[in-house]
Amino acid sequence: MNVALLSESPADEAALRELVTGVLRVRPRFIAPGFRARGWPNVAQVLPSVIRHLHFNTDADALVVAVDADDSVVHGAAHERPGYFHPHCRMCQLRAVHRQTTKKLPPARGRERLLRAVGVAVPAIEAWYLCGRDPAVTEAAWVEGNARGARPYSRAELKQRVYATDRPSLAHEIDCALREVERHRADSRRLEHEFPGFAALAADLRAARDRPPNFLPQPL
Ligand SMILES: [Zn+2]
Repeated sequence: MNVALLSESPADEAALRELVTGVLRVRPRFIAPGFRARGWPNVAQVLPSVIRHLHFNTDADALVVAVDADDSVVHGAAHERPGYFHPHCRMCQLRAVHRQTTKKLPPARGRERLLRAVGVAVPAIEAWYLCGRDPAVTEAAWVEGNARGARPYSRAELKQRVYATDRPSLAHEIDCALREVERHRADSRRLEHEFPGFAALAADLRAARDRPPNFLPQPL
């Protein structure tokens, strides 16, 4: 399976490679180099051109896109209703951009379309890193705290807990990220259970691996 990555930083990309490998239980071939966007809304803005490039010029089967939720609306079960779309939910937005972009593209390189695996880290990817180390950090804790008007932690606090500094160098960020995701690479179930925004990415990836007939019949 050939997987491309679109992320917000080189550290995120390093971590995502391990997380994707953990979900698939085998390391896919990653399309190099990974694609980078400068945070939100740049990710959604560059996504159509990244999809078109991968579709026509590479053998990518799936594109993994992962972003931080920051203060946006958290994707929930209500958003999964057919035809539903929440304009302030990044999961809904990224899925919609993929859907709208791919439906206009003709088949290319033996496949009908590039599949997508979208993840949203609530509120930031550092929360995923802390999963299994800090039981207070879960997507539900963030959603419930916001509903009560009392956030359980800030994004800055999460970064401090992961990096032990508020200004990590890129090398330090990558070291810390890789150290933490090692837990999830061996077994991603806890991360999927506590972070539905990661579970959605994992489900997309497995669906892409166990692909429905995305590939066109080969002529004999
Ligand atoms: Zn949503």
